Amino acid sequence: MTLNRRQFAAGALASAASVSAAPAEPFKYRGYLGWITDLATLPDTNAAWPSMKLDDPLLRDYKNTFRLMREWKLQDLCIWGLYVSRSWPTDLPSAVPADRGRAVQKLIDDAHQHGVRVISGLGVYSWGFDQILKAHPHLSKGNANAMCGSEDASWEWMRKVIDYVFTRFPIDGVSMQSADQGRCPCDRCKRFTDTEYHVRLNIRCAEYIHSKYPGKLVAVSGWGMRFADPASLPHLTALGKHIDYLIDVRDSSRQQDPTLRKRIISALPCAFGTLGGPQVEPPQHWPRDRWFLPTPRYAGEHLETLHAEGGRACEWFYHILANPGCELSTWVVAKVLADPATGWRKHLNASLEQIYKTTKPSLRDALAEAFLNAEHAYVRHIPTFCGTISMEPLVSSSPGPPVYLTKRLTPAQRQAYGADLKPVRAQFEKLTADVPEKNRMRMIVRCIDNVLKDIATA
Ligand SMILES: [Zn+2]
Repeated sequence: MTLNRRQFAAGALASAASVSAAPAEPFKYRGYLGWITDLATLPDTNAAWPSMKLDDPLLRDYKNTFRLMREWKLQDLCIWGLYVSRSWPTDLPSAVPADRGRAVQKLIDDAHQHGVRVISGLGVYSWGFDQILKAHPHLSKGNANAMCGSEDASWEWMRKVIDYVFTRFPIDGVSMQSADQGRCPCDRCKRFTDTEYHVRLNIRCAEYIHSKYPGKLVAVSGWGMRFADPASLPHLTALGKHIDYLIDVRDSSRQQDPTLRKRIISALPCAFGTLGGPQVEPPQHWPRDRWFLPTPRYAGEHLETLHAEGGRACEWFYHILANPGCELSTWVVAKVLADPATGWRKHLNASLEQIYKTTKPSLRDALAEAFLNAEHAYVRHIPTFCGTISMEPLVSSSPGPPVYLTKRLTPAQRQAYGADLKPVRAQFEKLTADVPEKNRMRMIVRCIDNVLKDIATA
């Protein structure tokens, strides 16, 4: 099923109506978040995830991205992997060799020259502590991937990592994660609920950073934390006094009670947000023409609803701009974050005019319809979804199977997706004659052909 013209127009009207009621101020924290190679034009075909390769082509990608971020007013680069991938060495200063240090310094300098702040990802008590835990096994008390939150020596390691992170490179802040790898279940830690436990660890780090590195931004990304329990609210409020913004990555607060999110936002002393709706996770190992999954409408609507409830933060995932679907999604989202009052639909039009150099409104509208049909063809099978859509299995060291087709969709949904994409392909092919950006149009058709191939062999 594709959207017909009437449904398409109705969507545009509904969007315009919802916008008139929304406050005009922008999202206060507009972040672009990913592992260091997640936006690369070139795949890193046989590297273990997450690849740490920071070479000249990637630095050029960053420079192009910073130019766009300045244009979009997307202010914060929230980046994982400046220092290490999965593990700090016990000799912390050896984490970044001189050559890599120079490349990272160049990336940060380029960002700053474009007015982009650099916010480093920071694992809190977990994620990054594997070698430290191996050398000091007593720090783990029941979770092999996390240091015990009640152990003084754990805090000493955490403090050393914070000092290294803030003194090795001139970063502007940190986006902290404590929950992705779970928590310590020991007798001393288990008196705290999960939310309470993570909140305590994050407050301790935030207080230390504010006292020692004043003026730095401190955010918390709640990967692994669930905000659906109203009993968590006092703890989240306590955390909010110490940080600039809190990200409920998967929009978990709305999953049991749709009204809870608004109550959390009203109670929190800091900004609150999500990662912005469905996210096409960058497939590290895949050629960039293997998928075509734009999400401007679902992401735009998600962000407009979040904004109307008072949400003012977003950590939008890196998207591979060399893929035309991901390129358009990111253009539209960045514009919505900077100017939510205008409405995603108008931002979509403006983005298409800029990227595809179309000036004729009828041509632009036909292009918009084709993109929205491509989005609808897939995302209608996962409505109201906020989270990552893995194209291939995330953790691997070679190109993986298309799990977004084989795992996320049932066989019937997969066939329906393929059937819906065929007329979309014809729409794009027909428009190619008139759209000035022919290479991009040909790339779209090639992407759809590759999706259809994957569907046929799945
Ligand atoms: Zn413990």
